Amino acid sequence: MRKNIVAGNWKMNTTLQEGVQLAKEVNESLKSFKANCGVVIAVPFTHLASINDVIDKNLLGLGAENCANKVSGAFTGEVSAAMVASTGANYVILGHSERRQYYGETSETLKEKVALALENGLTPIFCIGEVLEEREANVHFDVVKRQVEEALFELSAEDFSKLVLAYEPVWAIGTGKTATDDQAEEMHAFIRNTIAKKYGKEIADNTTILYGGSCKPSNAAQLFAKPNVDGGLIGGASLKSESFIDIVKAF
Ligand code: PEP
Repeated sequence: MRKNIVAGNWKMNTTLQEGVQLAKEVNESLKSFKANCGVVIAVPFTHLASINDVIDKNLLGLGAENCANKVSGAFTGEVSAAMVASTGANYVILGHSERRQYYGETSETLKEKVALALENGLTPIFCIGEVLEEREANVHFDVVKRQVEEALFELSAEDFSKLVLAYEPVWAIGTGKTATDDQAEEMHAFIRNTIAKKYGKEIADNTTILYGGSCKPSNAAQLFAKPNVDGGLIGGASLKSESFIDIVKAF
């Protein structure tokens, strides 16, 4: 059966020293109880190797927040999937709405990034989600279906089954405005059904689909109780170990 996961997305926050401290706190807390889900932190590139050295990877997975769509070479400032993997990280967030919105990431580049992540043994946490105008225009299902189809549906069934998806309605990210548990469930069921039509029911049933967007200790349990919501991708609330761990405990 599919795995439940709570993953933190630190975004462009914390210095190296602050980040190592936060990772140590999360790791310490995870020693004090048995989490009923996988726990992952996705952190800035600069922090990966140092954090990898101070956490117990049996308790806490480590990921990057992006990787390049090229293998190596003259791409100044880029960080490849192989480089991420060489730090000890095992996950990479791809297609986050902030990357799509501010850095012009398209389904074409994301397809390349997903392929390179998989080739390097990284698990992509692939983000999809509609903006407010698309929901208001009632095209949110079409938008999310297109995002999944364009970037992921050329993968083999074997490769597709290695992915984690994250549904993040853009209007709920960092806004304090959470999708209701029913809105999340409706979209997650739709995504699972879309996967089933392409790859079959077994792969769809085994795909972990996280919810992201102002998920916090006060609403996590209600969201995670929905049958198609397999955990959360947590932005703001992952920057304090206490709130992040409270969300982990919602399972
Ligand atoms: C995110 O950026 O993935 C996210 C869900 O952010 P927040 O929890 O702050 O809305």
